[in-house]
This record gives sequence, C-alpha cells and structure tokens, in this order.
Amino acid sequence: TDLAALLAAKIRDVPDYPKPGVVFKDIAPLLGDAEAFAALVDHLAARSRELGATKIVGLEARGFILAAPAAYAAGAGFVPVRKEGKLPGELHRQAYELEYGSAVIEVQTDAFAPGERVLVVDDVLATGGTVEAALELIQRCGAEVAGVEVMMELGFLGGRARLAPLLGDAPLETV
Ligand code: 5GP
Repeated sequence: TDLAALLAAKIRDVPDYPKPGVVFKDIAPLLGDAEAFAALVDHLAARSRELGATKIVGLEARGFILAAPAAYAAGAGFVPVRKEGKLPGELHRQAYELEYGSAVIEVQTDAFAPGERVLVVDDVLATGGTVEAALELIQRCGAEVAGVEVMMELGFLGGRARLAPLLGDAPLETV
C-alpha cells in the first residue's frame, strides 16, 4: 500500500544493534517525520474504530508512542502494558522467553471492563513473545482481543504462527 511504502522509506536498518548479527529496525526517522507519523497514527485509529476497540494497549516502550495518540484519535482509552516493577497496585504478570533468559510484563487488573474489546499496538513483531504475553494478560483480565496492529513484522522469526492460537478470529495486521 501507499502507507506501507511511505513508512518503509522512513525506517532505518541499523546493523549489529543491540548486538552483533542483529539488524535493528530504527523507527526514529519515521517518528520525526510529521507526515509519516500522522499517517500511521490515523491508520491505527481507523482500524481501532473498525474493529470496535474501546481500549488500545501499548507495549513498553515504543508501543506507547504509537498507541497513545491512536487511542486519542480513535476516541478509545489507552492502557500501558509495562515491564516488571513499573506499575502500582494489583497486577497480572506474565513471563515470556527471550533469546537469552526471560522477561516479565504486567498490566493493572482493573485496566479493562469485562468483555471490553482491546486493540494491541507495537512497533515491531519479531518472535511474537512480547505480543503473546500481552494477549494472555488481556484475556486474563476478562477482556477480548479485537486485534493486533504492528508497523512491521520480521516474518522469518515466525511470530505470526506463534500468535495464531491466542488470536482466534482477531486479525494480526501490519500497516
Ligand atoms: P518479540 O517479542 O516479538 O521477539 O520482540 C518484539 C519486541 O521487541 C517489540 O516490543 C519491539 O519493540 C522490540 N524489537 C525487536 N526487534 C526490534 C527491531 O528490530 N526494531 C525495533 N524497533 N524493535 C524491535
């Protein structure tokens, strides 16, 4: 699509970051481009409305940058899913595997009303571990996953297949 081409032109490949052998997709040029950033946020907001989401979840940290303005533009609420130890109060926690070791993400237990429809937004889908853990948290809160929107999918890492069982009929879309 035109939008995908506009965004792709603004994403920079950084070799050997954060470690040797990894090519990091740097979205800073896109965020700094007023036209590309607005087009991306507008698209996310439109999909949120079409999917009937009343909350948009952003995954720390780059997901926050996209999910918060999209929620505002869509007339939805914003919910942060954060790394361990950053949120106060009663939490659901979910551990997931990283390439080396594991990590934990958390959400506040009262972040959603029962049955509320939730869109998940992040910048890059790699192995799918982060989104998978977020979907489990949302479902544990009694909310319903309306869909997942990512800017970019590193297809060779198999994230889409990993998420299929948790997604059911909800779409996983790249912009
Ligand atoms: P996963 O859990 O799917 O393996 O990794 C996805 C998470 O790591 C996302 O939150 C994403 O922000 C981050 N990530 C992994 N690789 C990249 C990359 O190349 N570029 C950017 N911007 N983020 C990445």
